[in-house]
Amino acid sequence: MTRCHVCGSSNVDRLPQDGMPFRLVSSDVQPVVGTAEYLLCLNCSTVQKAVTAEWQAMADGIYASYDINHQSHGAEPMIFDTAKGSGPRSMILLRNFLDLVDLPRQGRLLDMGCSNGNLLKSFHALRPDWTLSGYELVDTWRDTVLALPGVEAFYSGPAPGYEGTFDVVSVSHVLEHVRDPAAFLQDISGRLGPNGRILVASPDLRQNSIDLVIADHCTHFDEQSLSYVVDRAGLNAELLSSRLLPKELVAVLAPQGTARAAAAADASAAKERCLFYFRLLEEVRSAGRAAAAEKRPFGIMGSSIAACWMKLELAGAVDFFVDEDPHRVGHTLTGLPILSPAQVPPGALVFIPMSVAVAEKIMDRWRDLPIDFRFVASNRPI
Ligand SMILES: [Zn+2]
Repeated sequence: MTRCHVCGSSNVDRLPQDGMPFRLVSSDVQPVVGTAEYLLCLNCSTVQKAVTAEWQAMADGIYASYDINHQSHGAEPMIFDTAKGSGPRSMILLRNFLDLVDLPRQGRLLDMGCSNGNLLKSFHALRPDWTLSGYELVDTWRDTVLALPGVEAFYSGPAPGYEGTFDVVSVSHVLEHVRDPAAFLQDISGRLGPNGRILVASPDLRQNSIDLVIADHCTHFDEQSLSYVVDRAGLNAELLSSRLLPKELVAVLAPQGTARAAAAADASAAKERCLFYFRLLEEVRSAGRAAAAEKRPFGIMGSSIAACWMKLELAGAVDFFVDEDPHRVGHTLTGLPILSPAQVPPGALVFIPMSVAVAEKIMDRWRDLPIDFRFVASNRPI
C-alpha cells in the first residue's frame, strides 16, 4: 500500500501528469534517467513523490556522485536584492537568522548537509569564535570541510555519533530529501543544548514549481506542509517565512514542552495548485520546443534546474546555456558551454524557462543586446 512518507496516512491521491511524464534533474543539476510518481496526501496535504524502492535507488545513485554547484566549481549561488542585500545564499540566510536570534559570542554549530562547507564559511565570517561541525551523507568533502577555519569535526554516514550538544543545527536544503522529515527534525532536537535552535531552509513549491522535477526531492514543501512537519516533530516555529530568500522557505525552530496535535490542512486546494504547476510546466515545455524549432543558434537562460530540465525536455536541441553569474560563465553544463549574455551570438534565440517576474528582469538588464528572448507569459507560480 502507498503511504504518505510525512504522516504515514494511506489516504493519498495520485496526481496525473498529462501526456509524457516529466523528465527529472538531480538537485546537483545533472540529467537523471527515469520519471516519478506524484502524490498528494489527503491527511496532511503534502505534495510528494512516491518513495518507492525505485525512487530510493535513483536518489542513492545521485548522492553517490554528488557534485554540488559544479557549474561554478563549487561556489554557491549568489542572490540579489533581498532585504539583507545581495551575496552568497548562505550569507543572506544567516544574516536573517542572526536578526531573529541573539547568539552568544561562543557556541557550537552543526551544519547538516554541509557539502563543501559554504554555510560553515559564511557562519565563521559572522561568528569567528564558534566551533563548527559538518554532516554529510558521504565523505567526499571530509578534507575540504575539516580544513575550513573554526571547524572541529566532520561526520558522515548513517550513524554519525555526534559528540556533545549543539547550540544551532542548520538544515539547509536537506528536509526535502528525507523520507520522514518530522522524525528527522525530532532526532535533531534531541541534540540541542539549552536555548538551542534549528535553522531550516527548503525550496518553496508555491514560489518555484520547477522543484517538482528535482529527482531527489521527495517532499515539495510550502508553508502549510512545513508547518505540519514542525508541529508533528513537537517543535515550535519562532519563524516560518517564504519572504526572506527568493524561492525558499526559512524557519527557525525551538523545542517545546509537548507536541500539539497537527491540524490537517486543506487537501483539495493543495491538489488544485499542484495540477496547476503541472500545466505550467507543460506550457513551458511546449513553448521551449516551439522556440527550439524556430531558429538557430538557440540557447537556454540559466544553468540550474530549470535550464537543465528544459534541455532534457528538448532532447538536446540546444546550442548553449546563458548565465549572468560570472562564476558560471566559461564552464559547461551537460557538455554545453555556459555563455555570458554578452557572448551570445547576435540574433540568437534565448529561451527563458523561469517565471515572468524573473524573465522580465533579465530582459530588462540585457535590452541593449541583440538577443531574441522568449519566455512564457503565463509562467506565474503565485
Ligand atoms: Zn500525509
